[in-house]
Amino acid sequence: MSEPEATVLIAGAGIGGLCLALALRKHCGLAAGEIEVFEQSRSFNDNAGGAVGLYANGLRVLRDISPELLAAVRKAGYPYECRRWFRHDGTQVACARESELCDEPDLQSIGIRRWKLQKVLCDAAADAGIVVSFKMRAESVVKRADDRVEVTFKDGSTRVARLVFGADGLKSKVREAVVGQLAADFTGVTCLMGAAHVPTRIGRGISFPSSRTTKNHGCFYPTGDDEQIFQLYFPAKEVDDAWGTLTAEEGRLECAQLAERLRADGWDEKFLVPLENAEAVIRVGLFAREPLDVWVGGGGRIILLGDAAHPPVPYIGQGAMMAMEDVGVLTRLLKIYCCADGARPFDPSDHLLARVSEAYQQLRIPRVTPVLRSSHQLGKTQQRRAESWWYNLCREWEIWLNVCRHGTLPIMKPGAAYDFRVHVDKYVHDKDKGDASGGGNGDEVAVVDEGGGRARAAVGLLTAAAAAATVALIVARRR
Ligand SMILES: Cc1cc2nc3c(=O)[nH]c(=O)nc-3n(C[C@H](O)[C@H](O)[C@H](O)COP(=O)(O)OP(=O)(O)OC[C@H]3O[C@@H](n4cnc5c(N)ncnc54)[C@H](O)[C@@H]3O)c2cc1C
Repeated sequence: MSEPEATVLIAGAGIGGLCLALALRKHCGLAAGEIEVFEQSRSFNDNAGGAVGLYANGLRVLRDISPELLAAVRKAGYPYECRRWFRHDGTQVACARESELCDEPDLQSIGIRRWKLQKVLCDAAADAGIVVSFKMRAESVVKRADDRVEVTFKDGSTRVARLVFGADGLKSKVREAVVGQLAADFTGVTCLMGAAHVPTRIGRGISFPSSRTTKNHGCFYPTGDDEQIFQLYFPAKEVDDAWGTLTAEEGRLECAQLAERLRADGWDEKFLVPLENAEAVIRVGLFAREPLDVWVGGGGRIILLGDAAHPPVPYIGQGAMMAMEDVGVLTRLLKIYCCADGARPFDPSDHLLARVSEAYQQLRIPRVTPVLRSSHQLGKTQQRRAESWWYNLCREWEIWLNVCRHGTLPIMKPGAAYDFRVHVDKYVHDKDKGDASGGGNGDEVAVVDEGGGRARAAVGLLTAAAAAATVALIVARRR
């Protein structure tokens, strides 16, 4: 009797894994029973802490799966109208309209509790007949000689599949089958993140207060009419684990201690109110690693996506969006190459998977690398502000000037503008015409970054000129 096998096995039912299951079902004509999803957690709990901002580039992937799915996610989230930068004392530095990032109404940025997003995706998977098996932690993944991939779980059971996807996050086990064991480095920064049921006092949008005197900075956004999310970043000693859900008592205590430190540093009360009313609190140690340069192993049969391939730091809010983009690109390539663009049933033969793997890595690595580097850079600019009043002043001017000139920070635009379909279709078209360049990185992220550096230099010069003119004026008056 032949061994039972899945066509596709997905390790990890996070944002990337669930989106992938839905997209494979929709675009690659796979029956629900051909897709198996395994998740290490016991279950997903309502009201668990944490939230994410969703932007146009990720929302496009949801819309491509189905407009109804996008509508359900939008309903569970809360739209941002503006993006504001503050000094920690409450002085506003600049305010941008969020519609600067995208002008399509159904792709406007939203904030959403992580558990609500997961619930919408899980419900959609259940409606599509896809089974998610909980308490199933993948421990090892091996490509066999018969072109099957065998996954062994923590309980000792095994499952065989034609194709295995590693959507199992920062500490991916599937990744070990592709590149061996790799640790991520602690960045020296920890984030306290939580939700509070308090009226929105910071405006309907996302706000970024930064201290001029300590390395603390934050991000606040609404996820409901009277629900605020806070993410406060501060330097800290190494933590044991990336994600730590705190008990109610621990959460209250850590938030109260942080609020006390921030108050002593002169933070405005509007930033402290959510902290002092926090309900679900998590502590996140920020770990980072350069994105891998190999995302596929096992002869094209073991494929990584999301944090398993490229863990982000969250300053630019693009980590989950990169996972969703991976899904959009991957499933479009699988449809084009393994389903003859929808004309044939899914065929995961070696030669077809080889084309998918090559294209996936050529498209995704040059796209993800600069976006995640921008995020690192943004974090560094935030933390450097406490080191010098001059740097801080230049940075504030730079933000203000950029918002006046570009409508928002240019570093944000390439992230949101990316359309995975355009990128994939250009790649396939160029390949068909014999151009092996592979469609570039799909946007001008690197160029915009350099622009940010140039803007900073220009702001420095302008500030120096203004300071010199002021001194000259004072001296002239005294005479
Ligand atoms: C503080 C903070 C704020 C952030 N804010 C944003 C934001 O605003 N916008 C944004 O786009 N991104 C944001 N991110 C990044 C984003 O959360 C991640 O990039 C995103 O969740 C990655 O999705 P993923 O599916 O790859 O991994 P995950 O969401 O981590 O999901 C992995 C899943 O796999 C499961 N798993 C792990 N190991 C195994 C195993 N061995 N076997 C089976 N299952 C396993 C896990 O339990 C989990 O369910 C933020 C991150 C942090 C830390």
